Amino acid sequence: MDNKPVKIGDCVAVERNKTMWEGNIIQINSKSLTLKLKSGYNVGITLDKNTKIKKINAEKIGKHKPVEFKLKFDKTKPLVSILSAGGTIASSIDYSTGAISASYSASQLVSSVPELVNFANIKTKKVLEEMSENMIPKHWKQLANSVFKELKESNGVVVTHGTDTLSYTSSMLSFMLKNLNKPVVITFAQKSSDRGSSDASMNLICSAITATKNIAGVVAVGHGTMSDDYCLINPGTKVRKMHSSQRDSFRPINCSPIGKVWVDGKIKFLGKHKKKEDLKEDCYLDDKIEEKVAIVKFYPGFNPELLDVYIDKGYKGIIIEGTGLGHIAECLFPKIKRAIKEDITVCMTTQTIYGKVNPYVYSNLRILSDLGVIYLEDMLTETAYTKLMWVLGHTQNKEEVREMMLKNMCGEFNLKIQPNQFLY
Ligand code: ASP
Repeated sequence: MDNKPVKIGDCVAVERNKTMWEGNIIQINSKSLTLKLKSGYNVGITLDKNTKIKKINAEKIGKHKPVEFKLKFDKTKPLVSILSAGGTIASSIDYSTGAISASYSASQLVSSVPELVNFANIKTKKVLEEMSENMIPKHWKQLANSVFKELKESNGVVVTHGTDTLSYTSSMLSFMLKNLNKPVVITFAQKSSDRGSSDASMNLICSAITATKNIAGVVAVGHGTMSDDYCLINPGTKVRKMHSSQRDSFRPINCSPIGKVWVDGKIKFLGKHKKKEDLKEDCYLDDKIEEKVAIVKFYPGFNPELLDVYIDKGYKGIIIEGTGLGHIAECLFPKIKRAIKEDITVCMTTQTIYGKVNPYVYSNLRILSDLGVIYLEDMLTETAYTKLMWVLGHTQNKEEVREMMLKNMCGEFNLKIQPNQFLY
């Protein structure tokens, strides 16, 4: 081991106490360095007299750029459009910093997954290049518009998306694409597609297969287990990222998955789902939304005056994520009263994630429901937020808003939750 000076980006072999690692330096100081290993994982190593470092490649490793290629149309297969919105699935790692950035085009992504052509003719388009935490309502509209255009000629559309806010997008698309009579599949990756451990290709293949099936609605497709066994097909209004890094992080909430899909093309539906023939009218795009809607999470010690901020800033709707059955401290009640008096729609969801809110169990919750707070049963907070935006984009009439919020538009309610749907 030569222990010559090394810097961020260098590819090195490090030995310490009989253990060897090889990778790129992504952080170094006088006491330690962090290596990005080939597996994609990072390791921190102490720098002391026992640490030996050897440069194994002085060149910086450039970004992996798959080639783009043109595909021949196969008349016997359906057409699936893959739209890229960004996120890790459309990203590559910059080995000089270890950072991940959204950089692949949809067609480059497809060129890395040639198996896709076994199931469909593939058309690709880059719509956005955003990490999903940076997405704002304008992006949902852009995506909904692009998906709608593609639906005219394709059998189904796949959207590749970041994981963090995927459920906001999947629920918003569900509300914006009215009478959706084809599959719109949102998929993702927890590890970027240029890593050996990536979940991108399996998720993409399973999504393309799903997009060729008779499903009417927005669904999220991705790993069902930590291994590469099968993917789950989950409803777009009842799906949530439940783990920060595991491949099988997307779970159905308060419902069962729609089905399972395997990379060899096999698919198994687990119950009834909406099909093309269930829709009598044509699909149309309705992307009118009211953006002045907020989510407020209640917690012990919540200062009621914080609610004044939303009221004074002219918000039109607030989703309160209460505890348990939909509780908030009584000291907030006067502010809720003020909000409702000022024509703000106030809805309640639960931070338990699973189960329903219910204002009829405890008398103090009845006060809130009497004030006009709309209790949203088992609806996810993310879905409640996008739905309230969409509903307020169409009416500000209190009774109509209540009626629409409590109407099951896109499977956002499950009135018969089963015990085995908990922590699926
Ligand atoms: N922060 C990223 C995003 O949501 C993570 C991912 O894509 O998985 O876009």
